[in-house]
Amino acid sequence: MTEQEVLAVAAHELGHCYTGDLFKINLLNAVGYTIIVLALQAIINNKEGILLSFGFKTSCDAVLIFVGLSITLNLINFWIDKLSMAYSRKIEYQADRFAYDLDFGEDLTNALYKM
Ligand SMILES: [Zn+2]
Repeated sequence: MTEQEVLAVAAHELGHCYTGDLFKINLLNAVGYTIIVLALQAIINNKEGILLSFGFKTSCDAVLIFVGLSITLNLINFWIDKLSMAYSRKIEYQADRFAYDLDFGEDLTNALYKM
C-alpha cells in the first residue's frame, strides 16, 4: 500500500471515532445482551407457561425447557444479527464518507481493493 492509501484507511478509522461508533456499538451490545438476559429470566420464571404453549401438560422437564430456551434464543439471535449487520453497514458507509470528504476517496478505494 502507498502512504496515501494508509492515510485513507486511517481517515476511515478516524471517521468511526468522529461519529462515536465505538460508543454506539458498545451501547447496542449492552441493549442486546440485556434483552437476552430478560428473555431468559422471563422463560425461567414462566416455565410452565412456556411448556403449555408448546402443548405439553407436564412441568419441570429440564429437557423441554432447554429445547424451548434454544428455540427462543435462536429466534432472538436471528433478528439481532440482522439488525447488527444493517447497522454495521451504515456505520462503515459513514466512515467511508468521512474519508471521502477528506479527499481520500480514490486512495481508500485502492486500499480496499488491495486488502
Ligand atoms: Zn470501518
